[in-house]
Amino acid sequence: MIKITLNEADYEYDIYSLVQAFFPGEDLYLDYQIEEKNVEDLPYQVKKRIKLQKDNISPSHTLDVKYGDSSIDLKFVDEKGECIEEKILDIDFSNRPETKNSLKKSIYGILAKYTNHKLPWGTLTGIRPTKIALSMLSEGESAEEVRDRMKDAYLASDEKIDLSLEIAGREIDLLSNLKTLVNVKRGVRDAHLGYSIYIGIPFCPTTCLYCSFPSYARASYAGKVEKYLLALKKEIHEVSILMKDKHLDTLYIGGGTPTALSDVELEELFSYLEKELPMDNVSEFNVEAGRPDSITREKLEVMKKHNVTRISINPQTMNEKTLKLIGRHHSVDSVRESFKLAREMGFSNINMDLIIGLPGETKEDVLYTFSEVEKMAPDSMTVHSLAVKTHSRLRKQWEEYKGYLFENSDELMGYANQTAERLGLKPYYLYRQKQMVGNLENVGFAKPGKEGLYNILIMEEQQDIVALGAGTASKKVHMDGTTSRCENVKDVDTYIERIDEMIQRKKELFS
Ligand code: SF4
Repeated sequence: MIKITLNEADYEYDIYSLVQAFFPGEDLYLDYQIEEKNVEDLPYQVKKRIKLQKDNISPSHTLDVKYGDSSIDLKFVDEKGECIEEKILDIDFSNRPETKNSLKKSIYGILAKYTNHKLPWGTLTGIRPTKIALSMLSEGESAEEVRDRMKDAYLASDEKIDLSLEIAGREIDLLSNLKTLVNVKRGVRDAHLGYSIYIGIPFCPTTCLYCSFPSYARASYAGKVEKYLLALKKEIHEVSILMKDKHLDTLYIGGGTPTALSDVELEELFSYLEKELPMDNVSEFNVEAGRPDSITREKLEVMKKHNVTRISINPQTMNEKTLKLIGRHHSVDSVRESFKLAREMGFSNINMDLIIGLPGETKEDVLYTFSEVEKMAPDSMTVHSLAVKTHSRLRKQWEEYKGYLFENSDELMGYANQTAERLGLKPYYLYRQKQMVGNLENVGFAKPGKEGLYNILIMEEQQDIVALGAGTASKKVHMDGTTSRCENVKDVDTYIERIDEMIQRKKELFS
């Protein structure tokens, strides 16, 4: 248990995530030395973390951050209150980015020295580390300037800087092919011309141990699927009117597991999409088939008929014992069979998602997964580092699982790179999540020409994303690169009941 004390609610989240990165798995809590009456004005997320301070806990370490008029005092102490390190930073508070960098670098210095450990991404704790490289290159800065910035300001390792530069360069090339983003190379975005749609189907055959997505077991929600699809159609119809003057670039159906729907339900949904949306123009139509236990020949036929261009069949692991442990209720063989069937039926762009760091998986298990995936030779592969999310079963039942090995490292991610290389796949997008095992990253690799454009558009915030269905979030990208978002409620019943409100939120965001 690590305590962070602050006398102001400034840079709170940056400090919190940096400390968390050095002490993965440790509980953190914030102790605000501010007036009780001011707590109400704090953002919801901050208030949530503050609540923890009411519990009776004795921290193993405390980081004390005290803001003065022109300085910040940092003090890191052990459980007996003995000072491990203390620093006073002279700060020009009028320059927020510099204040943040300087504060994070100093905390990084203290914690790296104490733990004798460096973070591969340095002080970059946000989810889009490649965005820095992408925007600098887009604005005409050189690779060397990106390198200097990422090293000096964020303390990123050479390896991660190389990866960011490689991915950002590839993203710029790929986005330049999109007619609606023709000027991305010069950093001038025509974002208002194009948009993408995400549709969430929040049902799955069963719920995976680590899942934090909107996902409800199909069997227990069977009676609600019809009403859900009706509400979704209403949302599709309204969005088609709202966005009628813009160009639909990509469509992504995810969830949950879209193929948890029956072939008849999929047929109806896809026909409706064709009726309402300019589907002939889309560059990419993705369906996250996802779980092999939901894929049938009939459903693949429906996808073929409606010109789905890219599907995902996700093993996550090719180890039977892990599949059981994480509650996926399908076998390794079913992954091979679904993949073979999809190939035979002519799907020429199949992605596979994998997770490193699953409970109990050793280096040998990870190597086995990669060797089996290599035999199938997918067109793209997204390698995730397990994230222990707050709302997952894994986090809620942590006592039961904490004895398992949870391991990821640069060495294991290196196997992903080697497998990708042998398959002719190149890294083309990257993102990070909170509470990732090994504090590494998720990387999407693809054969040239088989990349998922939607993935780049959403991760690099290059275009408006209109998200439909329960638990989805829409994002508007403004011309200056800033974003605004609106969310749909997560609960299926509430989504159905309040569908008009979900539509209204989108009208307010995109009108
Ligand atoms: S298949 Fe995906 S969405 Fe469904 S339960 Fe598993 S992790 Fe969650």
